[in-house]
Amino acid sequence: MSIATKLQTIKKSLADNITLVAVSKTKPNEDILKAYKAGHKIFGENKIQELVQKWEALPKDIQWHMIGHVQRNKVKYMAEFVSMIHGVDSLKLLMEINKQAKKHNRKINCLLQIHIANEDTKFGLEESELYAIINSEEFKQLENIKIVGLMGMATFTSDEVQIRKEFKHLKRVFDHLKKLLADVSILSMGMSSDFSIAIEEGSTMVRIGSSIFGSRNYST
Ligand SMILES: *Cc1c(COP(=O)(O)O)cnc(C)c1O
Repeated sequence: MSIATKLQTIKKSLADNITLVAVSKTKPNEDILKAYKAGHKIFGENKIQELVQKWEALPKDIQWHMIGHVQRNKVKYMAEFVSMIHGVDSLKLLMEINKQAKKHNRKINCLLQIHIANEDTKFGLEESELYAIINSEEFKQLENIKIVGLMGMATFTSDEVQIRKEFKHLKRVFDHLKKLLADVSILSMGMSSDFSIAIEEGSTMVRIGSSIFGSRNYST
């Protein structure tokens, strides 16, 4: 199946209230253009340098989502154009995004990443850390960022019960956060292998790579 066909098949299977981020990391610009020409405008990358190169080379109406772990000293490279940052996991990072957004007179949409997996290797905040951030004085002064929701990654396992339990946990935190912050409406959870479960558990944004573009040479 072509990229366009795979994309359209997935899109048709998604309800209207679910946003698809097509994860194009490691894939060449020509693959992204195939999806773009099929009408898709939202792409996700996880490495700053690759993100910047693709933004420079590709049509300017593409909305670029940074889905990977962000190093603070690299925020400046994407602050001009990035449309959403999914992996925000500290107040310091949020403050840096705010500072760089201000230079470009922008307000950058951010998702706070919550640690839901069994594995230590996945980034993210514990629930208590999330509340500590949003209740801090520093947070209240950030005018160039907007917390629009939460993001999480389930454990890499074939155990559906485990995955579902982790997504349920994230949904519960999301529902609570909605009561605390006015702009919260996005729950980014679900990838190629688990997006159907994620949607059943309340996801509003899925990040799908390999099911659209084919498998990658290395797993990141
Ligand atoms: C790579 C990646 C995805 C997409 O993974 P697939 O299994 O290819 O769909 C989703 N989210 C994050 C954070 C990723 O790094």
